[in-house]
Amino acid sequence: MNFRELPKVELHTHLEGCAPPAFIRQLAHEKRLDLSGIFTAEGGYDFRDFDHFLQVYEAACTTLQSPEDFRRLTMAVLEETASHGVVYMETFVSPDFCGGGDLVAWTDYLAAMQEAAAEAEDKFGITLKGIVTGIRHFGPEACKPAALCAAETYGDFITGYGMAGGEMVGRPADYAYSFDLAREAGMPLTCHAGEWGGALMVAETIRDLRVARIGHGIGAIDDPTLIDEILEKDIVLEVCPGSNVVLKAVDGWASHPIAKLRDAGVKVTVSTDDPPFFHTTMTAEYDMLHQTFGWGEDEFKALNATALAAAFCDDDTKARVAKRLEPAQ
Ligand SMILES: [Zn+2]
Repeated sequence: MNFRELPKVELHTHLEGCAPPAFIRQLAHEKRLDLSGIFTAEGGYDFRDFDHFLQVYEAACTTLQSPEDFRRLTMAVLEETASHGVVYMETFVSPDFCGGGDLVAWTDYLAAMQEAAAEAEDKFGITLKGIVTGIRHFGPEACKPAALCAAETYGDFITGYGMAGGEMVGRPADYAYSFDLAREAGMPLTCHAGEWGGALMVAETIRDLRVARIGHGIGAIDDPTLIDEILEKDIVLEVCPGSNVVLKAVDGWASHPIAKLRDAGVKVTVSTDDPPFFHTTMTAEYDMLHQTFGWGEDEFKALNATALAAAFCDDDTKARVAKRLEPAQ
């Protein structure tokens, strides 16, 4: 079965983390930056574990210095993503990497990304929306300007607020100020939790940050009471199995809890997180879910319907994307 052509909805990606290594190498070359240490001999990204991954990620981000760099990045990412059948994508974007949290600079970066997104929609038939992201390991204070940038630019392109980065830094309540600020602006919320921090981190994130979606959330599987709460509150999980396998958040595909979560009635969705870092694509994720759990076209269609319903975009966009998910006549 070939799942590449199947139209897909992807909710959990990081824009810089989707950067093809060749694209980052080209930028490094143009700017005379020496990033040879972050690549393998074969040209992929090279890292040992999650903390090292974050370091390599941030090193790659040093090549992205201007709105024009982000315009090029957005085009490169959307061309690649669309080639795997993705028709709608949400991506985390960080004011920290786009002007250092300054609102005026952020607006310029955003305009460049939006311009590329409009061009890519015409050329490749993929819609992109952005979720402004605070970086947890930069600390609660650094997340405040990110949330302010989010609230000030919430609209057609920026559709939500979230938090990524090192999950084990602080507790969710430490970041409540930023989430409250975004919520008061009317923004839907998501937060990485339960990739490393287990069920307790997921529970605290739901309680203290009141999010509609959880990034990963796989640790929830260990707590049946929490599963009940997730069902009751209709919280959607942005599951990234290939990322979890490569970073060793799980022992392997066979023991990944996505199938158990789904069987328990949890609304799971599938995404790639940072595909070139984790040697994955949406096609590869579907192939592995097919091989490991026997999921086929029906399961994937249901998965995409769940993802589109949980998307942070407006209803007109959802209706437009829904047409792309229908089989061609
Ligand atoms: Zn992520």
